[in-house]
Parts: sequence; structure tokens; C-alpha cells
Amino acid sequence: MTATENDQHFKILLIGDSDVGKTSLITRFTNDTFNESLKPAIDVEFTTKLIVIDEEPLRLQIWDSSGQEQHHIVSSAYCQDVQGIIMVFDVTKAESFENTKLWLQVIEQHSGENEKKLLIGNKCDLTYDRVVGHETAKKFADSLSMPYLETSAKRSINVEQAFTILAAELMSIP
Ligand code: GDP
Ligand code: MG
Repeated sequence: MTATENDQHFKILLIGDSDVGKTSLITRFTNDTFNESLKPAIDVEFTTKLIVIDEEPLRLQIWDSSGQEQHHIVSSAYCQDVQGIIMVFDVTKAESFENTKLWLQVIEQHSGENEKKLLIGNKCDLTYDRVVGHETAKKFADSLSMPYLETSAKRSINVEQAFTILAAELMSIP
């Protein structure tokens, strides 16, 4: 399969507190690698990945956020023309789950109402450190009509599924 200018493409943002694993999820998905400790000095703005859904090529432009997390601020440029939003929290950090509500408010100030959203509870490999239960997170996601997935960027659990589910929802927009 070759990419053409006519490929459908979608802009996806990852938002959530610092250290929940946003960059790690993107690296796992686009490069199938995981880096335990090394943080790149400068995070790239976005990465693209070509995927295929129902035999249709689809280019995902995945935007990482860094340095914007502390104050729950995202820039308007970052949100411009966004179609998909992945909200990430860390299942071992209650505060990061609470803050998804804040993130939702922030993103709604900057974007329209038609974005498809997905909630991710990352670091599900850390079974003994978990503080946010699956049911609690699932209920919250249900109340907002968004899918919920638990992932591990480290152990490569559900990462591809998460991006694929969101992409499939984006494709379904008439
Ligand atoms: P970001 O600030 O949201 O981009 O988070 P990073 O991707 O930089 O990850 C923060 C820290 O969490 C790093 O030390 C990662 O190695 C670690 N981390 C990320 N994802 C996972 C995961 O699924 N499981 C575990 N155990 N650690 C993870
Ligand atoms: Mg990061």
C-alpha cells in the first residue's frame, strides 16, 4: 500500500497530566519501543502514522503535549482542527484521574463539540500500585459517552487498540 495525497487524515491530541505516559504511548504505537527513563530533551510536536481500517488507508497525525501540562494549559494552535482527543491518566495516581475532568474543561474551551474522545488508564502493568479501579474509570467514561481502555505502554497492552478504536470512530463521521 502506498500513501497518497488523498489519504484521509486526522489530527489526534493526547492530553493529561505530566508523567502519565502520553509520550510513551505514542512511542509504543508509532515505533513499537519503550524507554524506561530517558526523556527526550525536546519532545516532537507531532508524529504521523499510516494505518489501515476496513482496507482504507488513514493517516493519523498524533500530537504530544509537553510543558503545557503543569498549569492545565493548552494553546489554541495545538487544538486547531483537532478531530480526536485521547485523555490519559495513570491508574496508579488518583490525582491524574481527577484531573481528567479539568483537562476536559480546558479542551472544550479551545475546540468544537464534534471531536471523538477516548479515555485511557495507562500503566495497568503496575498491578500492585493501582489506585483507580476499572469500574470507577469506566463509569466516568460512560457518563461522557466515550470508550475506556486500560493500557500499558511498557508491556504493550491495548496501545494499538486504543488508537484503532479512536480512528474507527473518526472514520464513521459522515
Ligand atoms: P508523559 O509526561 O505523559 O509524556 O509521560 P512519559 O511517557 O514521559 O512517561 C512518564 C514515566 O512513566 C516514564 O518514566 C515512563 O517510562 C513511565 N511509563 C510510561 N508508560 C508506562 C507504563 O505503561 N507502565 C509503566 N510501568 N511505566 C510507564
Ligand atoms: Mg511527554
